[in-house]
Amino acid sequence: MASLYLNGLSTEQYEELKRTLLETQKGSCFICDEEIDPELQSTDVDHVEPISTGGRDDVTNFALTHSSCNRSKQASDLRVARVLARFARIRDRTMVDGRGPNLSDILGEYGGAKYPLPVKVQDGSIHYSLDKAGDPAVHKVPLYKDQLSGLPYFFARLPIQYLHHDDRINPRNIGGSLSRLVEEFHRGYPQLHVSLAQLLIIPLKEVTNQRDERGAQNHHQAHEDLNF
Ligand SMILES: [Zn+2]
Repeated sequence: MASLYLNGLSTEQYEELKRTLLETQKGSCFICDEEIDPELQSTDVDHVEPISTGGRDDVTNFALTHSSCNRSKQASDLRVARVLARFARIRDRTMVDGRGPNLSDILGEYGGAKYPLPVKVQDGSIHYSLDKAGDPAVHKVPLYKDQLSGLPYFFARLPIQYLHHDDRINPRNIGGSLSRLVEEFHRGYPQLHVSLAQLLIIPLKEVTNQRDERGAQNHHQAHEDLNF
C-alpha cells in the first residue's frame, strides 16, 4: 500500500528501517516466519494494520516480509495474513497424507491434547485439576442441568493441553471459510463461539487398567477419555 512516510525516506533511511525491522523480527519474514535475507531475496516493507482500517503511517506500524509472501497474502492485515500462513503450512502437511486438516492437527501444532482432565462430581459441583500443566489448585465450578435434555453441564477455562479433538462433535475438516473467521476473532467479535465440548467420565482405575493393557497407546487413550 502507498505510504507517504516510506516515500519520504532517502535510500539510506529506507535501508536503515529494513535493518531495524529485520532485527526486531529476529531475521524472519513477518508473514511466513521463515528466514529472510534482504541481500538474497526481494523484500517489502508494508503496514501491519492497513491505513484503510485505521493503521498508522509511521515506524510503529511497519513489518518486513518476503515480496512473494506479501503479494500472495490472504488478508490485508499482516497479523491475520500471518495466522492464515501458519494454517496453510499445517494444511500442506496434512495434504501429503491425502486429507484435510482438522482440529487435532492444530492442537498438535500448539501443544494441545496432551492430558486427560481429572474430574469428580461432589456436592453439585465439578472439581477438576490442571496439575500436569503446573497449576496446583483444585478448581470447583457449579454443575447445572439442562432443563430440556436433562444433561449436566458446566463452564470452565481449560489450558490447551487439556483440549482434545472430537470426531463426533466436529467431524469435518477445517475448510476454506477460515479467513473470515480469523478476521472476526482478530477484530474481537467472532460470530462463532467454538466452546462446545462433551466430557465422558471414565473412572481413574479403569483408565489406568486400560493404559496397562494398551502400553504404547497411552496417547491415543487420552483422546478417548475426554472428548472435546
Ligand atoms: Zn515470507
